[in-house]
Amino acid sequence: MDAIHGGRTPIRVVLAMGSNLGDRRAHLREGIRGLSAWMEIHAISRVVECPPWGPIADQPPFLNLVLLATTALEPHELLEKTQEVERLRGRERVVDQGPRTLDVDIIFYDEVKLDHPELTIPHPDWQGRPFVRELLGDLGKDVVDPVSGRAFAPRSRDALRAQGLDPVAPLEGLEEIQFRSSEVPSSGALP
Ligand code: AMP
Repeated sequence: MDAIHGGRTPIRVVLAMGSNLGDRRAHLREGIRGLSAWMEIHAISRVVECPPWGPIADQPPFLNLVLLATTALEPHELLEKTQEVERLRGRERVVDQGPRTLDVDIIFYDEVKLDHPELTIPHPDWQGRPFVRELLGDLGKDVVDPVSGRAFAPRSRDALRAQGLDPVAPLEGLEEIQFRSSEVPSSGALP
């Protein structure tokens, strides 16, 4: 039995992460390490620097990435864990949509569609955020748009730049947790 999934059917999830406060690379790296206690990390996109999104424009630029993982957590358990990891990196919800040490969003949870006051899946804003849209193609052909079923094409560096996304050096120190398993269960693997 594998330790992470505990014998339960692994579910493919796509998460988005961002940081625009303090040591942004450390927040992302340690955030991923924290998440790896509950999931297998299969692929991590390029890291891009991009202008702040949302209604508060006057804040520092973000470092952002998306990742593909598998987990046995139910959607709300997953939200709890992502929020715990945010808290561990000193995240405080002082100003809504304001600067943050670490933001972790659930983009896709297999092909599940959920509309709950605390949790909407797919993430309601995923198509509106250039970094999510443009980096999904970095995660391989196993990631598809759960609505259209279409795969995402990888983007060239120039294509990312044209969207205001500036690729920076990859995060270091994740070798031991990344690509722990290359086998990603196929879509629709829900029990
Ligand atoms: P944020 O400011 O991005 O951390 O999100 C604030 C709230 O969005 C959280 O407290 C969640 O309850 C809610 N939320 C709704 N859908 C999602 C989702 N797919 N992923 C993460 N948070 C979500």
